[in-house]
Amino acid sequence: MLKRKTGSVDKLKDRLNKGNKKSYDDDRLWKYELDKSDQAVATLRFLPASNADADAYMAANPEIDFTKDDEPIPFWVSMHEHAFKQNGKWYINVCKTTFGGEDCPVCNYNSEAIEGTGLGFKDLPDEHPVKLAVRDRKRKEWHYANVLVVKDKNNPQNEGKVMIFKFGYAVHSQIMDQMFPEFDEDVGIDVSDMMYGKDYDIKMFKKNGQVSYDKCGFAKESSVSEDVKELEKIWKSEFTLQPFVDKTIDKPTADLQKQLNRVLGISAPKVDAPVKDAEQSPDESKPEETPMAGEDEDEAMFQAMLNADDS
Ligand SMILES: [Zn+2]
Repeated sequence: MLKRKTGSVDKLKDRLNKGNKKSYDDDRLWKYELDKSDQAVATLRFLPASNADADAYMAANPEIDFTKDDEPIPFWVSMHEHAFKQNGKWYINVCKTTFGGEDCPVCNYNSEAIEGTGLGFKDLPDEHPVKLAVRDRKRKEWHYANVLVVKDKNNPQNEGKVMIFKFGYAVHSQIMDQMFPEFDEDVGIDVSDMMYGKDYDIKMFKKNGQVSYDKCGFAKESSVSEDVKELEKIWKSEFTLQPFVDKTIDKPTADLQKQLNRVLGISAPKVDAPVKDAEQSPDESKPEETPMAGEDEDEAMFQAMLNADDS
C-alpha cells in the first residue's frame, strides 16, 4: 500500500518516473494550481485544430465535403474514461467506446449490475448501493484541446506557451453554448478563432470541498495578436491531439477484464487491507479530472492524488 505523506511526493515521483515516460508527467498538459486561499486564476485561449488533427478529422469523416466553405472542424478531441477506486485499488482506463468498441468490461459489468436489481437505472432509488457504485464506475467524457496560456497567476512560467488542456463536462458545455447558442438572437462564435474568438477566463475556487468552475467563462471577442506572423508561429507550435484518441492506445478486452477483476476483488487470492488514510484520498463522489490510463496501481493512485479535486 502506497503511503501518501506530504513531502514524500517528490521521492515517489522520481521513483515512478524511472522507466517509461508516463502520461502524468506530460509537461505539455496545462493544469490549474490552487493557491493558499484555494483559488486559481488563469486565462487560456483555445486554439484552432492543428493541421495534423484537421487532416485526421477529415479522413475520419469522408461523408463531409470539406471543399465547401466553412465546414467546421472541432478544435478538440474527445474520449471516454473509467476512473474509480474499489477495495483500495484504482481502475483507470480509456473506455472501449472511445474507439467504437462495445466490449468494455466496465460498461458490461455496470449493465449486469443494474440488470441484477430487476429495475432500470432510473427506477433505482438514488441511495441504492448498486446505483451509487454504477455511477462511480461509469465512463466520463473528456476532451483535449491546444491552448495558448495567456495568463497563469500561480504558474507565470506557463504564460505565452502553447499547452494541452484536458477538460470535462463543465468547460465543454460552455464551449458548446458559445458555438451553438440556445437563442436564435445570439450568434454562434468559434471561440478558437485567432482573430475573432474569445479568451477563456478561469477563476477556480473551492465550494463544499469541490473545485468549482462556476465563475469560469468566456471573455469578449478579441484577437490573439495583430501580427499574422505571430499567429502563425503560435498555430505551428500546437501539439497533435490524435495520440489521445488513437486506436493504438486501446487495450485488449482480456487485459482490461483482468484489471477490473483485480479491482473488484474477483478471484483474488487475498483480501485487501482497508484504506487507512481515507482523509487524504481524493473525493470519490466526483472523480473528475483523472489522467490517462495507467495499469500500475501506484501510478494510478499518484495520478489520482495529483488530480483529486476537479469538477
Ligand atoms: Zn466503458
